Amino acid sequence: MTNTTSMKNSEPKKMSLWLKILIGMIAGIFAGMLLGCNAEYIKPIGQLFISAIKMLIVPLIFCSLIVGVTSMKDTTKMGRIGIKSIVFYLATTAVAISIGLGLGIFFEPGAGLNMVATTVADAKPSTSLMNTIVGLVPKNPVGSLASGNILQIIVFALSLGIALNLIGEKGEPAAKVFESLADAMYKLTELVMRLAPYGVFALMAWVSGKYGLDVLLPLIKVIGLVYLGCIIHILVLGGGFVGLLGKLNPQRFYKGIIEAQVIAFTTTSSSGTLPASIKCATQNLGVSRTVSSFVLPVGATINMDGTALYQGVLALFIAQAFGVDLSTTDYLTIIATATLASVGTAGVPGAGLIMLSLVLTTVGLPLEGIAIVAGIDRILDMARTTINVTGDLMVTLLIGKSEGELDIAVYNKESTAPQTAKQ
Ligand code: ASP
Repeated sequence: MTNTTSMKNSEPKKMSLWLKILIGMIAGIFAGMLLGCNAEYIKPIGQLFISAIKMLIVPLIFCSLIVGVTSMKDTTKMGRIGIKSIVFYLATTAVAISIGLGLGIFFEPGAGLNMVATTVADAKPSTSLMNTIVGLVPKNPVGSLASGNILQIIVFALSLGIALNLIGEKGEPAAKVFESLADAMYKLTELVMRLAPYGVFALMAWVSGKYGLDVLLPLIKVIGLVYLGCIIHILVLGGGFVGLLGKLNPQRFYKGIIEAQVIAFTTTSSSGTLPASIKCATQNLGVSRTVSSFVLPVGATINMDGTALYQGVLALFIAQAFGVDLSTTDYLTIIATATLASVGTAGVPGAGLIMLSLVLTTVGLPLEGIAIVAGIDRILDMARTTINVTGDLMVTLLIGKSEGELDIAVYNKESTAPQTAKQ
């Protein structure tokens, strides 16, 4: 180490944000245990934080997607990134559901429960695939922006971006406006993220105060399996995809995304975590804004690895608990519907539980199963949302690398001089 470097290092170092958030999370767990139900009183601090990040979602997705498209004048490149995203997203979902089913078959979490289907759970009717496809195109884009319909916003933003590219010079002033708005949204994200340690503290205190051991113990096996599956999936994403396929250091990946993971874990919303994910991808991993602002919003909406894994474990748990024997066709149906259901799951809290009804109905499993696990869904949602976001970031990193849109010096910044991410 040179003298200059050691002098630089002797300057007082500020604690990094991810560490503060992590400390907030752990302190929150203990505070919740001490306060019990009284932790409800600090929940508003967490709700305030969630509202602040929700405030960012629509304008951030809208402006950053348009900028993503207008900065990619090369339409072939855009198509290639789109196809790569879909292929990667489906591949990681397939891995996730296989892990979920594998664990469910091996550990049999519902075996011996001997439940009998008597009541019918109050599950929302699932919308058909055709309706979902037709509903992708907004009749009124302003309405979609106002109601926060993310899929419709993505479709409109992509179309507007393409149109701005097609009109050439005439589109440049509008593109500049969106660029400047997107920059302002990134700045606002940074400011809101400074509140994260406090928001995360309050949310964790509320969760651990509300779900004491009494609530958790009866379903501990299913909780344990979903968490174990999520840990295995994170290791596969890091070791297999980032390490072997991307030839990048997985540790740097894990460290770079921890902020987003903690936000996902505590807010249980992939859409809500999007601002933090974009910040991690560009500032910590070094993926260009062009790629991050295109691949991440799509991932936060359609790529739900954790949700697919959870649906695999839960479908088997419910089948075993009610003594239903599943055939090979049933397993294949679970894989297909869980993949589709995870694509159709909105990145909001609890959406996966509602989509579970789709999987159960398709293979003829009792919907009462939903009622059994509904009480602990928040605990499961925390893990699956974290995996959903990790999958999105992993795919963004690999696409960034394969498109030459990854600043490797930023990615490896611990061992090199600090540099700013390529924008
Ligand atoms: N809460 C999850 C997410 O936002 C979706 C789910 O409930 O599975 O990613």
